[in-house]
Amino acid sequence: EHAIAINERLYVYQEGQDKVHLRKLKILRSLKEALQKDDGQLQMYYQPKMNLRTGEVEKSEALIRWFHPDDGFIPPDLFIELAEQTGLIGLVTAWVISRVLDDQARLKRDGIAMQVSINISAQDLSDDGLKFLIEQKLQQNNLEAHDVCLEITERDMMTDVDKSLALLNYFRERGFQISMDDYGIGYSALSKLAQMPLNELKIDKCFILKLATQKDDQIIVRNTITMAHELGLSVIAEGVEDLESKDWLREAGCDYIQGYYLARPMACDALVKWLDEFKTAEKAE
Ligand code: C2E
Ligand code: MG
Ligand code: MG
Ligand code: MG
Repeated sequence: EHAIAINERLYVYQEGQDKVHLRKLKILRSLKEALQKDDGQLQMYYQPKMNLRTGEVEKSEALIRWFHPDDGFIPPDLFIELAEQTGLIGLVTAWVISRVLDDQARLKRDGIAMQVSINISAQDLSDDGLKFLIEQKLQQNNLEAHDVCLEITERDMMTDVDKSLALLNYFRERGFQISMDDYGIGYSALSKLAQMPLNELKIDKCFILKLATQKDDQIIVRNTITMAHELGLSVIAEGVEDLESKDWLREAGCDYIQGYYLARPMACDALVKWLDEFKTAEKAE
């Protein structure tokens, strides 16, 4: 029998339960260790976003990366949901915010003015801890609210709608940007669109990956852009992998793109270099 303690709760694995379950517990235990040790296993990567009207790169998304010493790269899709289910996500988010805002301060010192977006989970919106943490880190690093965007998924709004809305309204009034991530998949939240204090709608990559050839995706994306604009929201498409899709999105009036076509997520040092090369290439054109 194996027992693993995570956040004062004991998760017990008994013989006979499936291997998947044991593997999940192991992942959680090593994640907690990685957070506590902070020995470089966990890193923040940044993926640039392009303004389609100006062609400038003015924003990025912070994405967590976990390089386990024995198991190698463990994708966030594998451990974020687990962390959400067990209450460990609070520790993850705290680590992410702290690291991202340090990096953000460094970029600002280097004269790079870029808004960074941070992925926020459901439980992060269930108490005021997130608010205090972000405010404290902003102050420490001399950053402004508009330097930061919070990416929220539809799913995240469902747990405690009143509390989540109150916190989001606070962030919005303070000047943080708020984006609805992965729009169009999972829980239908059309009614939430007008109710939530959003600045931006981020169309899920499943509608974008084959955009250049899929007529149905084109219809959905074109109408989503129109709807968002009429609601006063700007629109970003994630998962843009080719020039055709980028051109199509610009024609359709999409405001921003993010995807492998532009760049893959990368470490902060690499981002600084990439931006420099991007600007040089831009001038040469
Ligand atoms: P997301 O927030 O929707 O992030 C976008 C995902 O799409 C990222 O996957 C990114 O690497 C990937 N992506 C970007 N461009 C392309 C493209 O052109 N093609 C394809 N196929 N994929 C592209 P990633 O980094 O594996 O993250 C997966 C999810 O894990 C994120 O989805 C987010 O929900 C979660 N996540 C990542 N980092 C964090 C974090 O720091 N905190 C929290 N709470 N969740 C995170
Ligand atoms: Mg996101
Ligand atoms: Mg997304
Ligand atoms: Mg996603």
